[in-house]
Amino acid sequence: MNDTKKLSGNAALAARDLRHVWHPCTQMHDHETIPMVPIVRGEGAWLFDADGKRYIDGISSWWVNLFGHANPRIAAALADQARTLEHVIFAGFTHEPALQLAEELVRVTPEGLNRVFYGDNGSSAIEVALKMSFHYWLNQGHGEKTRFVALTGSYHGETLGALSVSDVALYRKTYAPLLLEPILAPSPDTWDAEPGETPADVATRRLGDLRAVLERQAGEICAVIVEPLVQCAGGMRMYHPDYLAGLRTLCDEFDVHFIADEIAVGFGRTGTMFACEQAGVRPDFMCLSKGLTAGTLALSAVLTTDAVYEAFYAEYASGKAFLHSHSYTGNPLACRVALETLAIFRDEPVIENNRRLAAHLASRLAPLRDHPHVADVRQTGMIAAVELVRDKASRTPFPFEERRGMRVYLHGLTRECLLRPLGNVVYFMPPYVVTESEIDHLVDVAIEGIERAVA
Ligand SMILES: *Cc1c(COP(=O)(O)O)cnc(C)c1O
Repeated sequence: MNDTKKLSGNAALAARDLRHVWHPCTQMHDHETIPMVPIVRGEGAWLFDADGKRYIDGISSWWVNLFGHANPRIAAALADQARTLEHVIFAGFTHEPALQLAEELVRVTPEGLNRVFYGDNGSSAIEVALKMSFHYWLNQGHGEKTRFVALTGSYHGETLGALSVSDVALYRKTYAPLLLEPILAPSPDTWDAEPGETPADVATRRLGDLRAVLERQAGEICAVIVEPLVQCAGGMRMYHPDYLAGLRTLCDEFDVHFIADEIAVGFGRTGTMFACEQAGVRPDFMCLSKGLTAGTLALSAVLTTDAVYEAFYAEYASGKAFLHSHSYTGNPLACRVALETLAIFRDEPVIENNRRLAAHLASRLAPLRDHPHVADVRQTGMIAAVELVRDKASRTPFPFEERRGMRVYLHGLTRECLLRPLGNVVYFMPPYVVTESEIDHLVDVAIEGIERAVA
């Protein structure tokens, strides 16, 4: 090995990194044995490391990438915007990318979401929706409404408010003393079906549970917050659209808001532009991020109705304004990239292509259903998941500390794949530019990894 390569290779960069950088969602001690992978460039579905090895990005770099890494169209729009206007205060000032993006978002989201408030990441969008919902009721003279309903197994982000309405113990438990206390309603997760129940039956039964919560406590509840169709970080748990339709009806009946967190499932992930479309519903708040910029820059948006907007619209002295702000609100670079993302959706048959890719992925995963350590293979559009268990008949999970999923991850790295299981759930969430043969490779490697992980 020559010296220049050695100095800039994986090992050298990893060593420098570990001297100062503290990584997210990581027990840093793991890196005494698990390699840190320095990535030097990306192209399409591929990432390239400093040793020249490559990996198919099977998880869209944490569910954000849509149209491939270093997408030339997006890069060109970003460069042009950077030379024109990189940022400006968004209070009292506006600019074409932000107002045009608001127009476009209103156009592509369900009818009636006419107002757009920007944030700079998914968690901040959740904070905005929670505060706005509470503040709406306060402005309407209902300051007694202070609580939120969340679903079991839900995940809405890591800041204190977003974590408060999340129910993934791994992230929440430690900080519980700092958090708001949500009212948990049981998730319509199809995994919990009773014998003989269809996914629609589970949805109906869980709507009954939610109705009971609302009958008891609606007077103190601001909103119900859900991840439409797929609870992603909670293990890619999936449910029937009937639940969303029923949720809309219940929220109207009991006078509480419906917050749809489409941060992970929006922008074509579930087979439609937004997951809510599959139930034909309009939430009162829709939170968007991740795919909003096709995975290029941090940006989020909360869409809401004119009715919500009008509850804040009054003389200054009324004190009704929504004063929430972030320094980078409405960042022109991010807005411009989001506009280019939506332009790609307009110019190319993205959703139709995804249907073909999703069908291919489904057919390749089907044989895993017979695997003795696979309890479930489930899929909603471009999200597919394989649930590993120790015992299939009783669905006894592998103990979490055995880290079976980690073995799949490590195997993937040796075979040109980035797969990053959530505990014992091996999932696929590739960028939409992935090819059928790349999907074949991801699935083949996942199956090899599963064989090793369960051995
Ligand atoms: C990722 C995610 C969030 C949080 O977004 P960040 O940008 O990571 O803060 C919120 N909700 C859902 C459903 C997510 O998947």
